[in-house]
Amino acid sequence: AKKQARPAPLWFEESLETELRYRCELELAIREAIPAGEFVPYYEQQVDLATGEVLGFEMLARWHSPTFGLIGPDVFIPIAEEIGVIAEMSESLIRQALRDAREWDPRLTLSVNISPLQLRDPWFAQKLLKLLVEAQFPPQRLEVEITETSLHQNIAVVQALVTSLRNQGITISLDDFGTGYSSFAQLRKLPFDRIKIDRSFVLAMQEDSDSRTIVETIALLGKGLGLPITAEGVESAELLESLQSLGSFKGQGYLYGKPQDAQATREFLAERALL
Ligand code: C2E
Ligand code: CA
Ligand code: CA
Ligand code: CA
Repeated sequence: AKKQARPAPLWFEESLETELRYRCELELAIREAIPAGEFVPYYEQQVDLATGEVLGFEMLARWHSPTFGLIGPDVFIPIAEEIGVIAEMSESLIRQALRDAREWDPRLTLSVNISPLQLRDPWFAQKLLKLLVEAQFPPQRLEVEITETSLHQNIAVVQALVTSLRNQGITISLDDFGTGYSSFAQLRKLPFDRIKIDRSFVLAMQEDSDSRTIVETIALLGKGLGLPITAEGVESAELLESLQSLGSFKGQGYLYGKPQDAQATREFLAERALL
């Protein structure tokens, strides 16, 4: 005979309810945070690893929530995607970032991360160009970072999008390279300008010879395909040295400092006569 289903223990129901309530509060707070201006851009340096020269910044989103405190993108980006507000949030962040970056030395670039969901919007390129025109920001200074996972969707749509962004002079980078599934096929299909090696490989390359081999191989691949490389996760002087021995890369990581808000970034640049 079939066993009778037992009722779930009380503690389970309680914790589930607490979790659900927390989740609902987060969703509501995220919706309200966009018009309230609580999402703000932080900036992480991107440097020439050979010379240490600052070449630009990657914009990384932060949420200054009055209820939850300072929250990172790994928490709120997936929720914003799920509840359908990622495009609105991203537009607000990019608008702020273009305003900030316009004050920097015009040789400095600005990189922004784009969600796979945004790439499904056939008007995405037009929307981005409109933001550039509004901010009077030269497209040549903008880099758009697309993750490999973006490419698992309709490739023709992404192809058209990438092509029109590139035609405007925007740089397109393949982010988190190595962590996706069909990297090589995608590299052939899409006209990328740059490859970003995921920090998981870089961070492990000293202890783990397989990771080192992967980084070396990506470096060779970039060379062969004529695609420059950015290494993420440059945390230590030893890592910097290992990377320098493999070629000339752009890099970013905690060795150069944690992401900072607009004001701290301005101060940093002012000290270096880059404002
Ligand atoms: P990502 O594009 O791979 O960004 C780099 C992440 O690595 C950042 O985390 C940065 O703080 C962290 N990081 C930088 N240097 C080091 C280092 O030396 N060691 C270690 N362990 N970590 C380092 P963050 O800011 O938490 O961003 C997480 C992810 O959220 C980003 O990963 C990006 O995929 C996404 N993201 C951030 N801002 C946005 C946005 O405006 N839109 C979208 N769609 N995604 C965003
Ligand atoms: Ca990125
Ligand atoms: Ca990345
Ligand atoms: Ca990453």
